[in-house]
Parts: sequence; C-alpha cells; structure tokens
Amino acid sequence: MSKVMSKPRIVIVGAGFAGYQAARRLGATMADHARITLINSTDFFLYLPLLPEVAAGILDPRRVSVPLAATLPRVECLLGEVRSIDRDARRLRARSPEGRDFDVDFDRLVLAAGSVNKLLPVPGVGENAHGFRGIPEALYLRDHIIRQLELAEFTEDPAERAARCTFVVVGAGYTGTEVAAQCQLFTSALARRHRGLGDQRIRWLLLDLAPRVLPELDRRLGRTAERVLRERGVEVRTETSISEATPDGVRLTTGEDVPTRTLIWCVGVRPDPLVEGLGLDTERGRLVVDEYLTVPGQPDLFACGDVAAVPDLTRPGQLTAMTAQHATRQGTVAARNVAASLGHGTRRAYRHRDLGFVVDLGGVKAAANPLGVRLSGLPAKVVTRGYHLAALPGNRLRTSADWLLDAVLPRQSVQLGLVRSGAVPLDSEAPELPN
Ligand SMILES: Cc1cc2nc3c(=O)[nH]c(=O)nc-3n(C[C@H](O)[C@H](O)[C@H](O)COP(=O)(O)OP(=O)(O)OC[C@H]3O[C@@H](n4cnc5c(N)ncnc54)[C@H](O)[C@@H]3O)c2cc1C
Repeated sequence: MSKVMSKPRIVIVGAGFAGYQAARRLGATMADHARITLINSTDFFLYLPLLPEVAAGILDPRRVSVPLAATLPRVECLLGEVRSIDRDARRLRARSPEGRDFDVDFDRLVLAAGSVNKLLPVPGVGENAHGFRGIPEALYLRDHIIRQLELAEFTEDPAERAARCTFVVVGAGYTGTEVAAQCQLFTSALARRHRGLGDQRIRWLLLDLAPRVLPELDRRLGRTAERVLRERGVEVRTETSISEATPDGVRLTTGEDVPTRTLIWCVGVRPDPLVEGLGLDTERGRLVVDEYLTVPGQPDLFACGDVAAVPDLTRPGQLTAMTAQHATRQGTVAARNVAASLGHGTRRAYRHRDLGFVVDLGGVKAAANPLGVRLSGLPAKVVTRGYHLAALPGNRLRTSADWLLDAVLPRQSVQLGLVRSGAVPLDSEAPELPN
C-alpha cells in the first residue's frame, strides 16, 4: 500500500480519442511507475465517427461504445464529471452520476475533455433544434425520424404531412454531411414500407454558410459528397443557413420558409467549458499548449485533442484541426511526454501530417482520400469501413456483424422511446424541450 501511495499519480480527464489513447499508452508503459487514473462522464469510449450509423439504424449503439475498464486493465477508471480544477493544490473535484462530489489529487494532469455543441445566436434554435454529439442524440434522432413518417402517414392534412416529411440539417461538415447521407437513405427505405405515404416527397435539406460541402476537408472530397447527395435528391444549399426556427419550421437566410418538425444542428463544436474555469490562456476557446502539449508555465499540466490549441508544425501559424486523427495521435504524444516529465524516456514535439479522410455516405457510397489518393464509390466504401474497423479499439466483430446483417436484411424500424426530446437539449443550459 505504501508503495502504491508513493507513486506519482497521473490523472487524465476525458476518455475520448485523445484521453483513451493517452490512458492506453500510459497503462502499457508507466503502470509500474505511476498510478494512472482516467476520469470520464461515461464508462465507455465513444467512437463518434460511426454515430450517424446508429441514428440510421445500421449499428446497435453498443457497437460504438468501447468499455473502459475491460480494455484498459492497468488504468483506474473513475466515473464522474470533472467540475473544477485547483492547479495550485493539484486537486480536482468531480461529480459522480449519482451527484456525489469527490476530490482527486494529481501529480500530472492530462486534459482531454473534448468539445461540445457550438450554439449561434439564431432565434429559436436552442429550443427547437437538436445536436448530434452522443448516443442519446443518435437514439433520439432515430426514433424521431421513424415517428415523423408514422405520423405523416395518418394525418389528413397535406401540409402537416409535408412538414413531417421534411428534414433540415444545418452544417455540412463531416457530421452534418454523414447524418444527412445516412438518414436520407433510412427515410427512403422507411417510406417504401409506409404505403399510406403514397408518392409523398421526402425532403432533406443540407445547409451551410460555406460555399461548399465539407468546407474543412479536401475540395475533392466535398465535390464527391455533394454529387452523391444531390443524386439522391438531397437539397444542398451552400452559403445558406437559417435565420429563425419555430416548432413548425425554419426560415432560411434567403427568406424562404420551410415547414419542418426536424432541425438537426451540426454547425460545429467549441471546446469543453471546463477550460473556461481554468484561468489560463485560450485561443479560439481552446487551451493554449506548446508543441509538447504542455500548458506554458505549467509543467504538470498537459492538454490534447479538441480541447487544446495545438500548434500545427506542418502548417506554421495554424492550429491542428479538431479531428479524431489528431486527437488520437496527440494522446500518444501526451502520454510519452508525461512519462518523460517523470523521468521515463524523452519528450517529443507533436507533428503530424494528415493521412487523409474518410466520409461514409451510406449504401455503397463514400468519399475518401487515403494518403492523398482520391477514391469514391465502392473502393472508398471499402477503405472507409476498413479504416473504422482498424481505428475502433474494440467491438470489431460485432460491428462487422451489424454491417453484414444490414447488407442482407431490411433495417429494423421501431421507436424504442428511450430518449425523450427534453433529455437531449442542444445547449445543456437551455430550457428543456417538450417531447
Ligand atoms: C458525430 C461526429 C462525427 C465525427 N466524425 C469524425 C470523423 O469521421 N473523422 C474525424 O476525424 N473526426 C470526426 N469527428 C470529430 C472527432 O470525433 C473529434 O475531433 C474527436 O472526438 C476529438 O477527440 P477528443 O478526445 O478531444 O474528444 P472526445 O472524443 O469528444 O472525448 C472527450 C471525452 O471527455 C469526456 N468529458 C467531457 N467533459 C468532461 C468532464 N468535465 N469530466 C469528465 N469527462 C469529460 C466526454 O464524455 C468524452 O468521453 C466527429 C465528431 C462527431 C460529433
């Protein structure tokens, strides 16, 4: 016991791409030299890139949830949400899911709390839109989509039917694009089963203020994605957003009114609010770190992933993008540098050039540019699924089985009613939405 107590304690906040990877690496290299603690709001690592497939009914939500305790055997995993950090006392306070506060002391702290939905001051959005950041939102959206088509089938009012069959996604980054692509195919398949919908048009609108789809990625990926979406009938409106949202519809910035009961808000993310309370320098809301992922003047404090403003050494003057690819690699480097700060190994600067990106567009379509090679159609789909399987730290067989079943069987569509609208507000501080 006294030996354990004398070991330095490394605490990691957040078990997303960055924190999970840091914990894995530290568990493998430092478990004999330090006590490694991972604090996360859930008991699993969430593989966010496959979340649109959960909303579209392809994957069971457990496939994208990799259990922490089972996959990180040499790491102490604590369930809780970190509420405050006392840098001088080297102590943080967290709250358990049952509301009990507890303190954790640390010698080294790795902040990897990720990001949250970015809100814009558009009237009605906080009350009428839903974001897409976690399993509750994905399950809510799946139920909501099924419900809209089921209610549309039986209404006598053609205007209501049209509104229920209209789905608006704001934000054509990878989240919005994949949600629109996957869920549009889902609604097409559902509509064929609802004979009462007859030839009712199912409308999907994908809006972005940027002049193109996937504005943050390679131009050619955006072109492929836009072409596939337009071929399927998705109305892609670039340089357009919404100026107002109500329970019955949205007004576009062009002045056009679109009656709808579904507004999915994918306009981007901002770093976790935990950063704001630290009293440290931030850049675009992200905690400033140097190329070693250390907070300047705070040798015990490291940050990585979306929460950190990491200088991109391959593009001087810019920050690394908020992507899973960067977060994962930064987690590895943070772990190495934490170990070096405790006298084990040498530290390394973070430098990573993008290896390409994959965007799953549902069905047999995808867009990918592995190592700069532009792919579309089936080859891109194979690369995309292969990439996700390789990147998933667990559940690979079950995920493959779900994909196989989806390829040969009709998709199941039942509303489970597990997540109500009020449980997934866009802004956690916003008033609860009605069911
Ligand atoms: C739907 C969706 C699809 C995406 N698709 C792609 C894609 O295809 N490719 C790509 O590169 N990127 C994608 N991204 C972005 C990518 O997922 C993020 O860049 C990546 O998750 C960042 O990793 P992270 O470790 O910084 O944060 P996260 O993965 O968000 O992890 C943060 C973790 O910290 C926990 N946490 C937060 N606050 C606290 C607290 N106070 N106390 C304790 N724990 C806390 C959270 O529960 C979470 O587990 C997608 C994002 C979304 C939302």
